[in-house]
Amino acid sequence: MHFYLATSFIFPRSLRLRLFTLCFVATHLPLLGYCVWGLSTGRIALAEFMAVMLATLIGTGMALWGIGALLNPIHALAHALHRKDEAPPTTLPEVGDVIRTLYSGVQQAAATTRAQMDDLHVAAHADPLTGIANRRGFLARIDALPPTARRGCIAILDLDHFKQVNDQSGHDEGDRLLAAFASRLSAQLRRVDMVARWGGEEFVVFLPGCIEDEASWSLSRIASLMRSDPVGRLDGRAISFSAGVARWSGDNIDAALSAADKALYEAKRAGRDRICRAESRLQPACP
Ligand code: GH3
Ligand code: MG
Ligand code: MG
Repeated sequence: MHFYLATSFIFPRSLRLRLFTLCFVATHLPLLGYCVWGLSTGRIALAEFMAVMLATLIGTGMALWGIGALLNPIHALAHALHRKDEAPPTTLPEVGDVIRTLYSGVQQAAATTRAQMDDLHVAAHADPLTGIANRRGFLARIDALPPTARRGCIAILDLDHFKQVNDQSGHDEGDRLLAAFASRLSAQLRRVDMVARWGGEEFVVFLPGCIEDEASWSLSRIASLMRSDPVGRLDGRAISFSAGVARWSGDNIDAALSAADKALYEAKRAGRDRICRAESRLQPACP
């Protein structure tokens, strides 16, 4: 298509004439070459000139016949593309116009497909309720991290007694609370931190470059904000969350996730509304 567009200044609408020009020049090269050689050396001979001329004319004739035969299907296609409910055209569209129309149609279809694939990709990686990434989106972003950025802390957060929120205030209030908590997390964490909804009322955070102390401190600050400026209440008390924090050194993410999950379990067991750290090979540390 590049060559087609680059040569469109020659007979912009007629591919047939453009091909003819190309073939004419190409098939006359031997004749022109012979003439230039003969004139410069003075050795031009009528018999040889006539022979080359004849060969050139035969070549041109064959090229023209071939072009016509090759372009016929495109004319037939133009005919077929013409809508049945419209009056038949008095003249068939030029082949150049047909190709241009088909090419722009293909480009439009490709752009639409690309946009649809982008939408599907976003939908597959985002959580519609909270607007943040979902589990698949989180893992995809972790997978895409360069080796130098693959270290920090993983935290799993779980809202406390959330089932009671649904039971007492209804599912809609539960949904509102999930969205409000997701916004709070996104707003309070650093721009480099990755937040996602892990599922249900659980969230996951990756804090790049942090050690456990820094990650715990960061989450404790959010926990105290949940008390001073609650996103919702249950039996008059501010909604809280429990969290488990584990170190990730760039190896298997599943191990870090499972360590964070164990620490979360300890936080729940120790009374909720707290952040526990997964100490390697030791008992998780809970305040
Ligand atoms: P715990 O403190 O031990 O975490 O107790 P919990 O009640 O938070 O935990 P449990 O696992 O018993 O209940 C979780 C609830 O979260 C149950 C489920 O209905 C609710 N839930 C999960 N996903 C959604 C959601 O998308 N919207 C709403 N409104 N509720 C949800
Ligand atoms: Mg849960
Ligand atoms: Mg819960």
